[in-house]
Amino acid sequence: MASIGFDNPVRKHKIRAEVKARFGGCCGYCGMKSKVLTLDHVVAKSKGGVDGRSNLVAVCPRCNKSKGSQELWAWWQASPWWCETRAARLSETVFVCKLK
Ligand SMILES: [Zn+2]
Repeated sequence: MASIGFDNPVRKHKIRAEVKARFGGCCGYCGMKSKVLTLDHVVAKSKGGVDGRSNLVAVCPRCNKSKGSQELWAWWQASPWWCETRAARLSETVFVCKLK
């Protein structure tokens, strides 16, 4: 039986769909309903972040652009879209998230 890794396109598609469904089609950071959601790596791949659901958040293009490669909590808490409730929900599935 072939092993299924993150490189498997079907699995990748499934992960993306799951991540996007997490907040019901809304941005995981600002909560805005967005037709276009991009996947943000909480820990950038260049910094060792994985391509899995524990490191991915579906966010609107505005948040993705605003955050860039900044550390999530530093950026989020300083932004006008900081939301403790959403952060708590995010922490349940994104293991690298820690509430300070
Ligand atoms: Zn957003």
